[in-house]
Amino acid sequence: MTKRTTGMGMLQEIKSHVKYWGFLLLKLTGAALGAAVSLWFLNLFWEPRTRWFHMNQYQFSYDLWYTTLAGVWFLFSYGLFYLAFWDQKYRCRTCLRRLRMPVETGSWGYMLQLGRPQIEYICPYGHGKLNVEELQISGTVLPEWTEHGDIWAELFATSEAGDAKDSDKP
Ligand SMILES: [Zn+2]
Repeated sequence: MTKRTTGMGMLQEIKSHVKYWGFLLLKLTGAALGAAVSLWFLNLFWEPRTRWFHMNQYQFSYDLWYTTLAGVWFLFSYGLFYLAFWDQKYRCRTCLRRLRMPVETGSWGYMLQLGRPQIEYICPYGHGKLNVEELQISGTVLPEWTEHGDIWAELFATSEAGDAKDSDKP
């Protein structure tokens, strides 16, 4: 690979990073908005009127229904943020599409030959694969992302070469 193309690759990589983390930020903003709106909605039903994103201090821990619903709201908001992060884990780092085709690899019995049990996901557009450890022994192991080259470009290059060879035949 020449120097010029690696420079381009670097720029491409930075761009895809910005896209990937920007997408997470967007989802987190959405989750925050969802949480805020649902709290606002909840507050509609209780007096006195509170400001937009505030718990109703006059009702919380005095009114059983309000306290219960505030608890549910908290879990709901937590769930929204959790989903944003969970979804991000299974996204292609290049094109943000959901990764597909989970395949179990490795085996405890044949750990030395096949490696530890992992679930492997791939991007349908062949940008790379993600290996998620099946068992998280030492805390949370970050899933390993391996980027592939442009497999389609390679595939088409070889098939075109094959076509050319075929057309040479009389
Ligand atoms: Zn992709």
